Amino acid sequence: MIFQDNIGFAKRADRNDPLKKFRKQFLFPRHKGKPVIYFTGNSLGLQPASVSEFVHTELNDWASLGVEGHFNARRPWMPYHKFSKKSLARIVGAKSSEVVAMNQLSVNLHLLMVSFYRPDKKRFKILIEDGAFPSDRYAVESQMKFHGIDPATALIELKPRKNEVILRTEDILSAIENAGESLALVLLGAVQYYTGQFFEIELITAATHMVGAVAGFDLAHAAGNVPLNLHRDGVDFAVWCGYKYLNSGPGAIAGIFVHERHSKNFTLPRFSGWWGHDEKKRFKMEKTYVPMTGADGWQLSNFPVLAGAAQLASLKVFDQAGMVRLRKKSVALTGYLEFLLLCTDGYGEKFRLLTPDDPDQRGCQLSIEVFKNGIKCFRQLTREGVVADWRVPSVIRVAPVPLYNSFEDVFRFVGIFRKALEKI
Ligand SMILES: *Cc1c(COP(=O)(O)O)cnc(C)c1O
Repeated sequence: MIFQDNIGFAKRADRNDPLKKFRKQFLFPRHKGKPVIYFTGNSLGLQPASVSEFVHTELNDWASLGVEGHFNARRPWMPYHKFSKKSLARIVGAKSSEVVAMNQLSVNLHLLMVSFYRPDKKRFKILIEDGAFPSDRYAVESQMKFHGIDPATALIELKPRKNEVILRTEDILSAIENAGESLALVLLGAVQYYTGQFFEIELITAATHMVGAVAGFDLAHAAGNVPLNLHRDGVDFAVWCGYKYLNSGPGAIAGIFVHERHSKNFTLPRFSGWWGHDEKKRFKMEKTYVPMTGADGWQLSNFPVLAGAAQLASLKVFDQAGMVRLRKKSVALTGYLEFLLLCTDGYGEKFRLLTPDDPDQRGCQLSIEVFKNGIKCFRQLTREGVVADWRVPSVIRVAPVPLYNSFEDVFRFVGIFRKALEKI
């Protein structure tokens, strides 16, 4: 696609967009009577219009069936966790048995570290990216302390080179190699939440395995955003949340991936609950715990059906659009945003992009660093009906989401941004 800096181009691109019908399937907040330019699907995805119907189905079945709904609801509640498996597996590139929807992201991260962070005297370090999402860092440090390990000696934080913002893959790989036998776990955000960098999962996983460590990824900013092949790439485990690109609502149900090679490893320690117990015997109420094989064996509690219903509505939209088509549009949409920002007066003087310029190394998000008075610029965007995201001290994150954003959204956003820049 050869981009042009005019509204005619944006409108033409929208008319030719094979995914254009999906925009109508989402509910947009309004600003002065018009839909906002919503560029924060990386924080809270918009509500699919079908969510209400999916949730009401469960409310009605609960009203009319009570406890019988576990077996007789239109979507029986007992096996409800199975209904999302195929779609989630497609989104993260896994087998159905390797994924399950459960809990929340940080909870899941802890549960999987219980199994996959098994430090001993020799091998105890965890490698994360410098500036990792705070919750991930808290989880990692507290796991270390739980094992009596001092994070000051065990936490490796990868920093970009001097005067650079993006981590070079070669530097990540050599940090892994250098840590060698002391390394227990590599835990990276697959897409870095601040810079938008999409790490090279396959290479990082291979290097991690070479030194005998475990490779885990946090997909909070990756699931539903970038193409993932967790099974093929050999990733050991991954976690994600449901409310960002997966559009499953505030506090949505999250999910986990555990590679097939661990599916029957019952020697891995795990915190257990009855929903992870062999489903054929679950209601025999026996004393001995027999875990399910696969990801299901990490479940603890019975399934939150109302949250799960909202997620099913959203996953249906993903199935219809398909990750391949979504990614294709995403590369074009974000490419267009980048093109317009690069030909904006003040690029390099008043602002710059932190996100990699290689589409293979990013998802839909671009992080714009405004050198001075960024917050003023951001407030101006808000006043003009743009919903973006501000990160102290100087970054505006914008994420045109291919499911519901348009080329016209991108064009209008840049127009508003250019005016806001003139005022600072
Ligand atoms: C959004 C996000 C979280 C949030 O954790 P919750 O348990 O869902 O509140 C954690 N880690 C990363 C990298 C995130 O982007």
